[in-house]
Parts: sequence; structure tokens; C-alpha cells
Amino acid sequence: MNTNYKNIELQCADCGCDFEFSSEEQEFYNEKGFSAPKRCASCRSKNRQRKNDRRGGTGRQQTRYDATCSDCGIDTTVPFKPNQDKPIYCPDCYKKLKENGSI
Ligand SMILES: [Zn+2]
Ligand SMILES: [Zn+2]
Repeated sequence: MNTNYKNIELQCADCGCDFEFSSEEQEFYNEKGFSAPKRCASCRSKNRQRKNDRRGGTGRQQTRYDATCSDCGIDTTVPFKPNQDKPIYCPDCYKKLKENGSI
């Protein structure tokens, strides 16, 4: 056991709470060449979550194709190339038809 490290209290840059940076963690961070964490564990995981959300949100834009709803006739867009043989439904009609089991 390495005794050079002592548990220390750090202040979270996000929420301002004190959190413990344990000797084991310090050793781990030092081995990996990381600098001391600036945020408490909960803010770190929240941050990671936010990054993931952002990645999902601004991800590759889906190509939408213009189509006309076969049921109500309004203009809509679909995420696939409309096929003349298959009916295209707007989200409202799709939901309606799906609910009553027509599709
Ligand atoms: Zn925090
Ligand atoms: Zn419709």
C-alpha cells in the first residue's frame, strides 16, 4: 500500500460541494497521468450524461422525403423514400391506424 497519498477534500467546480479524493483515486489518477478531478462524482456523471445527450441530439441529420398522406391528404415527410405501391401516412393518421389495428 502506497502511503504517499492521503485522502483529501476537494471542492466541486460545479456544485461547490466538498468531495473526497481518496488516496486510491489519487494513485490511480497519478498512474494514468490524469490531473485531479475538478468535479464531484455526481457532477462528473451528470456531465458525462449531458455530453451523451448532446451527441445524440446533434447527430447525423436524418434525410426526410416529402410525401402526401394517403389517408387525409396533407403534406408530410417520411424517413424513407416513398414507394408508389405503398400508402404513406402522416404521423397523425399513422398513429390512428396503428391504434385501431389497420396497419
Ligand atoms: Zn458537484
Ligand atoms: Zn394523414
